[in-house]
Amino acid sequence: MLTRAALLESEQRQRHFAESQLAFSYRLLQTTTVDAAVEALLATIAENTPYDAGSVTLWTAEKPLRAEIVAAHRFALLTPLVEERQPIYLPDVRQEARWLPDTQPDAQEVRSVLLVPLLDDPQSEPFGYLSLKSYRPNAFSQPVVNNIVLLCNQTAAALRTVRLLEETRRRLSEVSVLAEMSAHLNRSYDLPETLRFVLDRVVSVISQGEKVSDIRAAIILRRPASNLLYLAVGHNLSNEEIERFNNRPYTVHEGTFARSIGKGEWVEIRDEAGVSQAIAEQFSQVAPRQLLDIPLSVGSETIGIISIDHVVRDPTTRQLLRAMSDLAGSAIQKTQVLAASQKQAAELVETYEHLQVMDQERDEFIQNITHDLKAPLTFIRGYAELMAEGAFGAITPEQSEALEVIQERTDAVNQLISNILTLKQVESHPLQEIPFNLDEVARKTVRNARMAARIAGLEISVPTEQTNVIVKGDAARMEQVFENLLSNSIKYSPEGGEISVSVGTRQDRAQVSVTDQGIGIPETEIENIWNRYYRVSGMSAKGSGLGLSNVRRIIEAHGGRIWVHSNGQGTTFTFEVPLYEGIRD
Ligand code: ADP
Repeated sequence: MLTRAALLESEQRQRHFAESQLAFSYRLLQTTTVDAAVEALLATIAENTPYDAGSVTLWTAEKPLRAEIVAAHRFALLTPLVEERQPIYLPDVRQEARWLPDTQPDAQEVRSVLLVPLLDDPQSEPFGYLSLKSYRPNAFSQPVVNNIVLLCNQTAAALRTVRLLEETRRRLSEVSVLAEMSAHLNRSYDLPETLRFVLDRVVSVISQGEKVSDIRAAIILRRPASNLLYLAVGHNLSNEEIERFNNRPYTVHEGTFARSIGKGEWVEIRDEAGVSQAIAEQFSQVAPRQLLDIPLSVGSETIGIISIDHVVRDPTTRQLLRAMSDLAGSAIQKTQVLAASQKQAAELVETYEHLQVMDQERDEFIQNITHDLKAPLTFIRGYAELMAEGAFGAITPEQSEALEVIQERTDAVNQLISNILTLKQVESHPLQEIPFNLDEVARKTVRNARMAARIAGLEISVPTEQTNVIVKGDAARMEQVFENLLSNSIKYSPEGGEISVSVGTRQDRAQVSVTDQGIGIPETEIENIWNRYYRVSGMSAKGSGLGLSNVRRIIEAHGGRIWVHSNGQGTTFTFEVPLYEGIRD
């Protein structure tokens, strides 16, 4: 029989509990972290029931229930708590065989213990438990235990939501780690910088995910097209250690590398004994506690590993590391390829520069010789002319013909010389900038070439009516253009053909064409004929291969362009240069 006073007290206690339960509900609603929910639970219990020590244990992926049961075999209460999913109340531990006092630091003082499983679903396994200890026997009455069970159920439901929230937060931060990493790696073209970045990110993900500090780690790469390995970057490794590793050097067939780099597998060694056997050398100075090798793979090829002296258990962190190593693998390969091609490019530039120097030396040599040939040639030409005119006595018709040939050949050599000299001059000497009539230049060079054309059995035609096509530039150089085009037409035409020259205007440009009925230029050669010293193979006519290259330079120096049209029947060279502004419409 309860006394009135006891009844009143019990009623008051229930009311007080109801009030604090309501307050607790509100608190849980606002809670966003596991720690805050646990703290709220312990505080609410303390408001209603005095106890001496209270704790909440939660099983997680890093610290699973099974592992704890094994580790705490001495704590015999855990198994029934999980299996029966009911609270376990020991009103007096001294009467309890299941209570093993030497397992707890405060075991001597503890008299009563209450364990309540945390269940968010009565069907599934608890994911943790509440433990309350009191130094008094019989500290928790049945109604109090019932109330605490109620609070624990509420907490379990709230924890489920909070854990989901934490999981979402974590996923979000994972996605942002990957996004940031991929953005950075896309922009990065420097191998050492890329490696340092990857290793820093991996270390920071592991240390935060697993809450460990002083991780030692390295990126070990396979040398391209070789079985040798090198330690490319280290974290918390001394230079001496890195050097020792690289001086050895290791191959992909040795120790754990045969699996990690050779086969592209994750290698995990969880116990110190295994580690010191397999890879003590890897982190040579401080023997590692554990070892994790994450392969860096690109497709089916493994280019290296990220090696860490710490095993990662959390599946989410492992998944993140897998995604990170995939990203890193292709980024590292990209920068490796880039570094190799930069080296090749540098070598090519060097070779090119060397060739240019040789080219220049050759040009100078030819220029000097050519220059020296000019003076004696002038004498030969002059004496042949004087002889032909009869200055040294009468000559026979045969002698006159021979002298004509001498003059014609010396003219050809002279043209060659002026072509060679032009080669440099167009580059090094500025053009004259004087307006002149292109039509006049055309007519003058046609007059000069007629003789050579006739000898070759060809006719050169120009329109009878003279025109004014004024352009600004270097008339002497332009003469060379006509001379070259005409002498080519003569050289590459069979006897009996006709060569026609036309000079006109087209909008704001002067347009000139030289057309022959000669052998034509094969389609495939048209690109090449503008190159210095290039000659279409099989040409019987003699030449240096310099003419068209000079022609194009001169036209381009006048701000114009030149092109060629050819079929089996003949060839037309056409060029345009800007008309002199002073006379434009
Ligand atoms: P080359 O001294 O050999 O004439 P060019 O630079 O003047 O050097 O010409 C380059 C090549 O272009 C010649 O070897 C020749 O094969 C071809 N070519 C130039 N003009 C003509 C043309 N009118 N008809 C046919 N082939 C030509």
